Amino acid sequence: MKKKRGYFGEYGGRFVPETLIPALEELDRAFREIGKDKEFRKEFSELLRDYVGRPTPLYYAARLTEHLGGAKIYLKREDLTHTGAHKINNALGQALLAKRMGKKRLIAETGAGQHGVATATGAAFAGLKCEIYMGSEDMKRQALNVFRMRLLGAEVREVPIGSRTLKDAINEALRDWTTNVKTTHYVLGTVFGPHPFPTIVREFQSVIGKEARGQILRKEGRLPDYLIACVGGGSNAIGLFSGFLKDDVKMIGVEAGGLGIRSGKHAARFAGGSVGIFQGCRSYLLQDRDGNVLGTHSVSAGLDYASVGPEHAFLHDRGRVKYTYATDREALRAFELLSRFEGIIPALESAHAISEAVKLAPTLSKKQIIIVNLSGRGDKDVAHVARIRGIGDLL
Ligand SMILES: *Cc1c(COP(=O)(O)O)cnc(C)c1O
Repeated sequence: MKKKRGYFGEYGGRFVPETLIPALEELDRAFREIGKDKEFRKEFSELLRDYVGRPTPLYYAARLTEHLGGAKIYLKREDLTHTGAHKINNALGQALLAKRMGKKRLIAETGAGQHGVATATGAAFAGLKCEIYMGSEDMKRQALNVFRMRLLGAEVREVPIGSRTLKDAINEALRDWTTNVKTTHYVLGTVFGPHPFPTIVREFQSVIGKEARGQILRKEGRLPDYLIACVGGGSNAIGLFSGFLKDDVKMIGVEAGGLGIRSGKHAARFAGGSVGIFQGCRSYLLQDRDGNVLGTHSVSAGLDYASVGPEHAFLHDRGRVKYTYATDREALRAFELLSRFEGIIPALESAHAISEAVKLAPTLSKKQIIIVNLSGRGDKDVAHVARIRGIGDLL
């Protein structure tokens, strides 16, 4: 089968209004030219080193490994990056790309505010104007990140329509982009949306897998047996997996199981969804029989989305990556376990990946190796967890 550009098998594509096509074409062209440019690559990799703090360590979690009594567990420490999660790799890459394209302004959507903060950081770094679209509901829940974005010089635009959450913010950002494409670049936050975004974000996150591959070869003299990463849109997972796709390495993507699949309150697109088109691309989607997009739930905002990156859909169907889920309860347990045994408080998103390692490691031999992508740190989640545990009034 001939490979269609912008598609991963039958997934991906560019399902947008005609008015948006020129912007996507321009971006696609620019990325293919600038992305290959030696100067650009050099500038980006120096920034990853001096500003983001890369390479991030690959850390052997000895006490967790001993506690679980099976395979050796390594953590890829994206939590140690500037701003505390992998999202900065992409936001900074796109900010740099936008500047090269001659754009003066960045816009982005944000749900929990993490991608908004990363984009505002990239804009401040690159000296670009920045506006972030955010649903009113999310603004209320994430007041601290709203303040953080403003501190970084961004304007936060309230979206008071629809469900007043992430998907409405995406629609507004796309509308803005259509009108202001000459001056403006839209920084999409994950490997999702219309082509070329899934490809661009993958490229900027692939540094995770490239580093991890070299690091494990140096430490262990061989490749790992398993990779585990949480999957929201899927960018931290694709970033890690992309370095090992040609190797004999098993991979597991972990979605948000929320209150369980049968409850309907989750974001497990592979366990509970079907193929559909949503916000610019074809992928797996949580929808009812009439194609209406369903509400989602997760204890972690970063995994709480109705669809998933198209490349994951492709890897799922081919059987290259296995997808599973962790429930809220399991993720919370892993959040506390990693804190106690390693002195590392993980993001609740990353705790979903840890939870899968907790299940898997004891079933493997002590000679086997698992790499878990620790996509972010948990500082942002501490107050939320305290509230859940009923000690929120202290904070
Ligand atoms: C946003 C976020 C995620 C989910 O996004 P992906 O694109 O699936 O990586 C995971 N972990 C953290 C810490 C995040 O902030």
